[in-house]
Amino acid sequence: MNLLLLEPADFISDSKVTLGGRRLQHLLEVQRVSEGTSLRAGLVNGRIGEATVLRLTPQTAELAVVLSQPPPPALPVTLLLAMPRPKMLRRILQTVATMGVKQLYLVNSWRVEKSYWQSPWLAPEAIREQLLLGLEQGCDTQLPQVLIRPRFKPLVEDELSAIMADSLALVAHPGSGTPCPVGPLSSPVTLAVGPEGGFIDYEIDKLCEAGFQPVTLGSRILRVETAIPAILGRLFH
Ligand code: SAM
Repeated sequence: MNLLLLEPADFISDSKVTLGGRRLQHLLEVQRVSEGTSLRAGLVNGRIGEATVLRLTPQTAELAVVLSQPPPPALPVTLLLAMPRPKMLRRILQTVATMGVKQLYLVNSWRVEKSYWQSPWLAPEAIREQLLLGLEQGCDTQLPQVLIRPRFKPLVEDELSAIMADSLALVAHPGSGTPCPVGPLSSPVTLAVGPEGGFIDYEIDKLCEAGFQPVTLGSRILRVETAIPAILGRLFH
């Protein structure tokens, strides 16, 4: 936890919070804070600053907070991600939040197992929990928006042109001959990343018809959770 993320419900006055649960455990056991310790803190979807521990018991911590700085800028990217297997979803949600992605579409693809859409990890609270862990890691407060699209064709035919408007639209596809561009880029990016088995030809064709360009990172096939930070690192150099 590189940033202590605060919720509005933690505030007992304009400048004081009390914490329990996971965050208190982390303060006590990992950060080993004591009264007087100052930490970087931020309000979910709000400003960043400092929190100073005023009182500490095994059950609760009381901290004084001053939040005066804006959160870091978002990455100018919308990510369209074929729904990963639920175990990976949790880690990927954390990664995209850490890296500053603010708009993530979880989309269907032929090679996405139908059962993935029933996962309890898609519940809004479960998604939020993973995003918060990612924000704590990346020292950010702005929660990404996660949109769930369990049907590929309506997404591409009805929504995609608005989603990708005024952006460079790229689909990460190992078989493509075109190398992924290296940033800095002059426009925002809409990036599609495929499922474990890759997008099928029909899906690549539909994305290309919509204006996407297939790009590759080279001949090594990366796992989705590796491909995402590799591509984002390259695009937003
Ligand atoms: N056999 C699949 C294929 O050839 O498409 C591999 C899929 S890969 C495990 C999952 C996704 O990660 C791909 O659909 C793509 O979006 C992205 N990816 C992985 N390695 C890549 C690479 N070298 N270049 C571009 N995208 C890659």
